[in-house]
Amino acid sequence: MKLLEGKNVIITGASRGIGKGIAEVFAKHGANIAFTYRSSDEKAKALEDELSANGCKAKGYKSDASDFDAAQQLSNDVMNDFGSIDVLVNNAGITKDGLLMRMSEKDFDIVMSINMKSVFNMTKAVLRPMLKARAGSIINMSSVVGVKGNIGQANYSASKAAINGFTKSTALELGSRNIRCNSIAPGFIETEMTGNLSEETVKEWREQIPLKRGGSTVDIANTTLFLASDMSSYVTGQVINVCGGMLT
Ligand code: NAP
Repeated sequence: MKLLEGKNVIITGASRGIGKGIAEVFAKHGANIAFTYRSSDEKAKALEDELSANGCKAKGYKSDASDFDAAQQLSNDVMNDFGSIDVLVNNAGITKDGLLMRMSEKDFDIVMSINMKSVFNMTKAVLRPMLKARAGSIINMSSVVGVKGNIGQANYSASKAAINGFTKSTALELGSRNIRCNSIAPGFIETEMTGNLSEETVKEWREQIPLKRGGSTVDIANTTLFLASDMSSYVTGQVINVCGGMLT
């Protein structure tokens, strides 16, 4: 059964990692996909071709999610190219880790801007078409560290905790218009973002997880699929931990 047949979706930061995994699963479920990236032109072109092979419409847009005006422009472009925006997945994110003693103002600001302000920018940008359609599902990529904190990630965990607050407020404000908003809090998912960690750190992470493995992009994509589809039509304002039991 295809769960997103004919739905038009925007996924930010889908040239690689979790965003790419979501785009691949969504395409198999019949969605048309507008995705963004910051600099990976070749990867974006390759993904466009890969997704289109499923028979869906797919287009990559080079657009900085932290730029308010660029988000508005993107929404306008997607409306022109696709005709509606049924689902928004705010996935773009970065890390600039370091102990607080050494964390620069620049590294704090850029993480807040790309991870958190981007969610405000994109949600504002899709609001008008979703309100007009009286339907929509917005899914924000948070993190377990936004729930529990983490050494060396004061900027990152603050940005993800802020996303959870934003998600709940958005769900409360827009529920009466049939627009749902939820967060996903992934645990340790093996992507390029975690690829910088040493083998020893990765081993330690795996040992702390009840399911004894890091998550895959498909694990996150399947939860995103549930929240994007009508299967979750009575779910809003939630932060869903997808972490192999790590936060239990
Ligand atoms: P990733 O592999 O580093 O990929 C990040 C994606 O975001 C890339 O497509 C990148 O585009 C894009 N991006 C970065 N800055 C952007 C900007 N300003 N505007 C638009 N796109 C931008 O990261 P990931 O591991 O897949 O993580 C995806 C999301 O999941 C993030 O929000 C992250 O915080 C969250 N998360 C990840 C984990 C994990 O264990 N991996 C755990 C919890 C939460 P370019 O390729 O062009 O740079």
